[in-house]
Amino acid sequence: MTSLPHLTPFEQAVRHSALEAMARYDSAADTARIGRAVNLILAGHVTLLPTGEADVRSQTGHSSYHVNGACQCPDFAKAEAGRCKHRFSKAILKRAHRILASAWYATYSPTLGAEQQGIAFAQGSDWMFIPEGQTAGWPCDQNALVLGGNVALADAQHAADGNLAAKVCGS
Ligand SMILES: [Zn+2]
Repeated sequence: MTSLPHLTPFEQAVRHSALEAMARYDSAADTARIGRAVNLILAGHVTLLPTGEADVRSQTGHSSYHVNGACQCPDFAKAEAGRCKHRFSKAILKRAHRILASAWYATYSPTLGAEQQGIAFAQGSDWMFIPEGQTAGWPCDQNALVLGGNVALADAQHAADGNLAAKVCGS
């Protein structure tokens, strides 16, 4: 059995959301900006505001950009349709939050083959399953899934427990 990199459901949702964006904006320039947007999010540089806008700290941490429909960074004017990494980071984080709000810990039980653990969320009339520790998943029928706890609720409980997993598993 190969060991998987540990990705939290949040990281999985962010990376999955980035894959969706890359499928839609597939030029090399967009792909590179999406990659940088993911780095900004995972570094905690992106703050979504109640207004629906976002503040994004630059990678160097010296400045911050306010992102609404536009962005004040130098790249905004150059990027195709103004798709700078800051605007991508806002869109990807928003999408990741929407995924997490409706995501469940799940067991995928195919008709053939082994069961797999991961997270699942409704996507249109289908479900999307992402195996534990991975970024890419696949659409599946809900009948193939056994849903466990809601990810957002479990994370809230987890925070309330003061990182019980670390205590139980050691570090
Ligand atoms: Zn920008």
